[in-house]
Amino acid sequence: MDTMVADQYDLIIIGGGPIGMSLSIALRGSGLSVLLLEARESIDKNEDPRPLAFSHGSRLILHRLGIWESLSEVTPIKTIHISNRGGFGRTLLTAEEIDVPALGYVILHQDIFRVMHKKLHEYRINYLTGAQVTQLKSDLSEGRVEFKHNGELKQVKASLLVLADGGRLTAQVDGVTQHVKDYEQKAVVSRIETSFPQCGVAYERFTSDGPVAFLPFGQNFSLVWTAPPSTVEEVLDLDDDAFLARLQSHFGYRVGKLISASKRSSFPLALKYATPVSGNRVVLIGNAAQTLHPVAGQGFNLGLRDAWELSREIITMPVDIGSSAMLSKYRAMRKTDSGGGRIFTDTLVKLFSNDDILLHGVRGIGLSALDCFPPAKRFVAKRMMFGSRG
Ligand SMILES: Cc1cc2nc3c(=O)[nH]c(=O)nc-3n(C[C@H](O)[C@H](O)[C@H](O)COP(=O)(O)OP(=O)(O)OC[C@H]3O[C@@H](n4cnc5c(N)ncnc54)[C@H](O)[C@@H]3O)c2cc1C
Repeated sequence: MDTMVADQYDLIIIGGGPIGMSLSIALRGSGLSVLLLEARESIDKNEDPRPLAFSHGSRLILHRLGIWESLSEVTPIKTIHISNRGGFGRTLLTAEEIDVPALGYVILHQDIFRVMHKKLHEYRINYLTGAQVTQLKSDLSEGRVEFKHNGELKQVKASLLVLADGGRLTAQVDGVTQHVKDYEQKAVVSRIETSFPQCGVAYERFTSDGPVAFLPFGQNFSLVWTAPPSTVEEVLDLDDDAFLARLQSHFGYRVGKLISASKRSSFPLALKYATPVSGNRVVLIGNAAQTLHPVAGQGFNLGLRDAWELSREIITMPVDIGSSAMLSKYRAMRKTDSGGGRIFTDTLVKLFSNDDILLHGVRGIGLSALDCFPPAKRFVAKRMMFGSRG
């Protein structure tokens, strides 16, 4: 796309991942000048295989952005089945209990990426690919960005810089600290054909190595298998039959016999979060603000709420975009949702990914108790569907 670059914008969004793209789309028609900078050149070839479980709340936002209806394959989750490997206790959350059409939906990252990329063109948003931001600086009056594009170094200014780069440039933001905790786990992702067709149930099985999720997708399932890096390297090297046998013995037969697996990919897992999520004329959203373990399927959902709420704040208060007053209001608005999502996810990883015998018993009792206490189940389900405002 041929985008002319001006010297000055109301807003520059750094990072055209799904969250940066969502914010650009949410601001369309606002009358503000917005520039979206994305480092990758060949966007059309994005084949990121990871499945994303979307909450009911995210569906509503994607619908407002005009994205939802264009997604090619969306599989509803009607029931979530949570169990603990080698122990008693399990819990079932159902859409009926919460009175919603589905607890969530599964789509592929590459599908939402493709649709958003297309919408940016359709809505004629200033979007520059192959634009790698190398430096950002800001003070109380403006933010300045330096980026490389077609071998040239360019400089642009804006009233507000939005960092949606997954956290790669956070160290350059004065006054913002990035906290990192390596989970020493990786996630293996693949599509799995099973002898039982999926019927809307998402299985989450906790094991001492890490959680394994079978998410309903199309006729079958999408797998997210988390384990220590050495185990992941081992299973990536196995041939398909050996891989399926290993997965079957790890997960069991809840989805029947595992028949085939598509190409496998892996992702390193760490908790990263920034405090505070803004500096002078800079705000961090999506994975730049919080990168979470995929166990509770919260990362994209939280990031989408960051983008949506920031866009509403900007549109309803377009007087001095990026002022300290605006950013402190945004921070206060997002604090409970973002902090709650992070603590909830991190606690699940801590409680469920270990061999502790005492915790093993507590996990079983916890899952059974949750299953017998509908108000607690509704609380957990609503938190997963809508965040802190559930
Ligand atoms: C295995 C796995 C499963 C997951 N499952 C779920 C799930 O079920 N539900 C859920 O809600 N979440 C899930 N997540 C989390 C979700 O994938 C992320 O939260 C989401 O993709 C974050 O999007 P983002 O746009 O914030 O960041 P990113 O996707 O990291 O995008 C950042 C963008 O910035 C660009 N960029 C980086 N540096 C620069 C620079 N210097 N200049 C210009 N551009 C730059 C990058 O090229 C990239 O396009 C999962 C994650 C994993 C790993």
